[in-house]
Amino acid sequence: PFEVLVVGGGPAGAAAAIYTVRKGFSTGIAAERFGGQLTDTMGIENWISTPYTEGPKLTAQMEQHVGEYPVDVMTRVSAEKLIPASKPGGLHEIKLATGASLKARSIILSTGARWRQLGVPGEERYRNKGVAYCPHCDGPLYKGKRVAVIGGGNSGVEAAIDLANIVGHVTLIEFDNALRADQVLQDKVASFANVEIITSAQTTEITGDGDTVSGLTYKDRETGDTRTIELDGVFVQIGLVPNTEWLAGSGIELSPHGEIVIDDHAATNVPGIFAAGDVTTVPYKQIIIAAGEGAKAGLSAFDYLIRTEPA
Ligand code: FAD
Repeated sequence: PFEVLVVGGGPAGAAAAIYTVRKGFSTGIAAERFGGQLTDTMGIENWISTPYTEGPKLTAQMEQHVGEYPVDVMTRVSAEKLIPASKPGGLHEIKLATGASLKARSIILSTGARWRQLGVPGEERYRNKGVAYCPHCDGPLYKGKRVAVIGGGNSGVEAAIDLANIVGHVTLIEFDNALRADQVLQDKVASFANVEIITSAQTTEITGDGDTVSGLTYKDRETGDTRTIELDGVFVQIGLVPNTEWLAGSGIELSPHGEIVIDDHAATNVPGIFAAGDVTTVPYKQIIIAAGEGAKAGLSAFDYLIRTEPA
């Protein structure tokens, strides 16, 4: 068994493992793929101290950094079930898809999240080529250009407000017949001259010229008409889904959105089990935040282990 097992190898998991192994604890990382969402990311301009890097490069550097220490990194493994220790100080168990099990006195959950996709033609093809999911990350790439935001909930309307300050024009597209965001956000977005709001619109395709996005097509759900808009970018803001389906029945408390509920020490409701990054209730899903939260979870695991007698 490990003293610390980190489930998930994105920035949160990598940071957590470095912190616990540097305390001298035997540490393992079990992850489907090292790097997590970073591996799908092109330009990164908000990892502080590095003005520009790319996802695969930052992943390789994190992997190399973890590799400086005796961390047991297991990739291509999928956690399917968590069975918390039956008594304080006991071993928690992670069951893998292969049927094997990993055990540890302390566990750090950092399985991240995934953006909900529209599932329309063109979305996958033009991902990172005009189709974007993170306005904090990619907004500045569209300075002065025309973009659409799909989704009229809080995150979509926040994105439209954010982008309206940067880009030339924003079309905010909502499937329902009204925006669903908080009224204060709706009032704010309505105050921008360069934002147009279209409701009752079902996006049916993201179109492109073969290289990058050139527009989108939607169906007007009231008239049934098909319309097109010319665009340089499309921000999809229909939800971020935490990777916690596998925790069902484990006793780990989840929020109504399925995020792992943690306190300000990154502790879950189960002693010895901590969580960090996009999978948790911590707001703002960003690399630097995930890494910081991972460090915090690692230090909390250390604190737990030095205070708890093994059962
Ligand atoms: P993730 O990166 O999601 O990592 C999760 C890890 O858990 C992975 O190793 C995964 O394989 C593993 N995993 C999941 N489920 C299981 C399971 N059941 N069993 C085992 N392993 C599992 N943020 C920025 O700050 N700047 C940017 O420019 C930026 N651009 C982005 C661009 C794109 C296209 C995307 C998708 C995200 C972007 N982000 C950006 C957000 C950033 O990538 C995330 O906030 C960050 O990666 C979260 O780190 P994490 O470690 O919490 O989770």
